Amino acid sequence: MSADCIFCKIVKGEIPSKKIYEDDDVIAFHDIHPITKVHFLIVPKLHVESLISCNAQHQALLGKILLLAPQLAKEQGLKGFRTMINTGREGGQEVFHLHVHVFGGGESLPRI
Ligand code: 5GP
Ligand code: ZN
Repeated sequence: MSADCIFCKIVKGEIPSKKIYEDDDVIAFHDIHPITKVHFLIVPKLHVESLISCNAQHQALLGKILLLAPQLAKEQGLKGFRTMINTGREGGQEVFHLHVHVFGGGESLPRI
């Protein structure tokens, strides 16, 4: 846990979120500023800053998060979706607690 981390506060329930999933390792909740009809974040409960901070010890956790993406997307009514992990300031990361964006719904997403 990191005292001033917004996602750690969401994990602890100190900041409210629109939660869609929780288990011992992971929490998932809707993004506060959705960029598509459905846009949620899958977040490890463990405070890990970014993908750069991950090592072999996080392998199972990363696999679990990725496998949750299609399951939760389906539950949210998505037939297809995009996943995104912003890493570091150059990668557009704003919240330095590892998270996977899952978004989709409505029109097909533009190619990037
Ligand atoms: P990134 O760090 O990958 O750029 O994106 C962080 C994401 O977290 C943004 O899409 C932003 O809208 C979302 N976000 C930031 N603060 C909160 C919050 O307090 N609650 C929720 N639900 N989402 C947040
Ligand atoms: Zn954190």
